[in-house]
Amino acid sequence: MSGVDTDRAIAKRAGGGEIVVSPEALQMGSRLDEHHAPETNGWMSVCRRCGAQTDGPDGPHIPNERQLERALQWLDAQSLSSGIDRARSQRHT
Ligand SMILES: [Zn+2]
Repeated sequence: MSGVDTDRAIAKRAGGGEIVVSPEALQMGSRLDEHHAPETNGWMSVCRRCGAQTDGPDGPHIPNERQLERALQWLDAQSLSSGIDRARSQRHT
């Protein structure tokens, strides 16, 4: 333990590395989770639908800092076309 901020959580990645997840990232991740279930290709920690990082191939969305703004714009774009894409996620596995 070396001075980790209490408002930050550390998530383990499949590769064994550690990423620091900010509260903003967790919040955005939960918004993405509500919009759709994470869709990875089964071995990469990236949702191919929104492009955000996930917590492992089977985990929830956890966009990294650089992806927060993009994820927000992505959600905005989705809501604009929400007549087509309903809130429920469309799974095509
Ligand atoms: Zn996604």
